[in-house]
Amino acid sequence: MPVITESTPVAFSDPLPDAADVVVIGAGVIGIATAYFLAGRGARVLVCEKGRVAGEQSSRNWGWVRQQGREAAELPIMMEANRIWRSLAAETGESDLEFSASGCLYLTESESQMATYADWHALAKQHQLDTRLLSAAEASKLSAGVDGAWVGGMLTASDGRAEPFSAVPALARAARRRGVTVVENCAVRSIEVEAGRVTAAVTEHGTVKAACVLLAGGAWSTHFAANVGLDLPQLTVRSTAARTHAAPERAPANLSTPGLALRRRKDGGYTVATGDLAEHYISPNSFAYFTKFLPLLRAASKNVKLRPAPPSGYPGAWGSKKRWSGDEVSPFERMRVLNPLPSERERRRLRRRLHKRAPWLADAGLAEFWAGMIDLTPDALPYIGETPSPRGLFIGTGLSGHGFGIGPAVGRMLADLIQGRPPGHDLSRFRLDRFSDGSPIVPGPY
Ligand SMILES: Cc1cc2nc3c(=O)[nH]c(=O)nc-3n(C[C@H](O)[C@H](O)[C@H](O)COP(=O)(O)OP(=O)(O)OC[C@H]3O[C@@H](n4cnc5c(N)ncnc54)[C@H](O)[C@@H]3O)c2cc1C
Repeated sequence: MPVITESTPVAFSDPLPDAADVVVIGAGVIGIATAYFLAGRGARVLVCEKGRVAGEQSSRNWGWVRQQGREAAELPIMMEANRIWRSLAAETGESDLEFSASGCLYLTESESQMATYADWHALAKQHQLDTRLLSAAEASKLSAGVDGAWVGGMLTASDGRAEPFSAVPALARAARRRGVTVVENCAVRSIEVEAGRVTAAVTEHGTVKAACVLLAGGAWSTHFAANVGLDLPQLTVRSTAARTHAAPERAPANLSTPGLALRRRKDGGYTVATGDLAEHYISPNSFAYFTKFLPLLRAASKNVKLRPAPPSGYPGAWGSKKRWSGDEVSPFERMRVLNPLPSERERRRLRRRLHKRAPWLADAGLAEFWAGMIDLTPDALPYIGETPSPRGLFIGTGLSGHGFGIGPAVGRMLADLIQGRPPGHDLSRFRLDRFSDGSPIVPGPY
């Protein structure tokens, strides 16, 4: 399945209604999952997507659906997501939503990393998760096809994988069967507010009255928010991945080793990535948010490479418009699908690492490279909640490189929040004002 781009045919072109209970901005996993759950409870939902359903991060990710290694506040939510993933294909009748419970295996060559695994294992135990620490011998036995001097590892057998290129479009089809209106090539430019409450979403094709709007715009959310007067600190990083041609199944289905991650695909190949390079294009927000990102930068500096200015039209690029009104063309419709070129440096590193760790897989050959722009918050954790002003504007963004797996549960929670019900999990770690309320910035796992 090739990367979704602007030349991918439009598959969702429902007529735009005059009114909806909820307008969702963005048809990635967060927007589509929220719409799916809202419609299941009778809400009239419109999803506006500036380009293609799942055209950005939600189809470009590795397809890992993992509980292992999650931040403490995310873990119970991710455990719920794991349960949802297991039922989605049967519930929707969409085989493209198939979840394979093939486990998630981390291997390490370092004692200090083993100590980190042991800390996380203690958290898993508190939640009765089936995570196990592995000895060097167990690690070697489980990873026969992958070379390394393993000190040990960590395995969560209940974790698994899904196919990102097809899963979110399949969930969008299921949402549509529940009555959701989904419109591709339809950017939301702004919102209308009266007496401190959202009253409408202004799209490029007209205004839709709605008391609730969900901003689930991924890499674009900060710029949408800024135009309506809200500060949502987020930057973007480019992440490059590739897929191999079909190859024998000689490696575990979800395997992370130092410098190489593999995920078995339904088409018989593997999705492969180094997993240790995040490229950030320097833009005006890099300076505006520099101090907020310092703790994360300190923790992750060896994985971050700075690049000069982003290409024109990228979210927040130099010279791009910062403010626009509802009747002006917005940056969102100028770039329907953010389709970054894969990094040349990463192509070379990936080939080298494959040759080193899994020469049999290198021999299968790399069929396609792609890249995605990840929306990253200063603590690498999402924003989930309603803005204090205007009321009726909900935010579900900043999933920071691990939103595909957790997406269904975030969507379920957002649906509950929007309908005034308790979300069922403690969301204080994801509050919208955490970078401006004076509290320390504590990065989660990145
Ligand atoms: C290379 C890579 C590997 C990854 N691997 C994993 C993994 O293995 N497991 C995992 O859990 N996560 C992974 N992730 C992260 C995961 O893909 C994201 O966290 C998740 O897809 C985010 O979903 P989203 O719906 O928030 O954003 P997106 O999927 O980016 O969707 C946002 C959508 O909003 C649209 N939009 C924006 N503004 C507007 C507007 N104004 N009007 C209309 N539409 C708008 C955009 O066009 C876009 O389609 C990876 C990401 C990348 C890039």
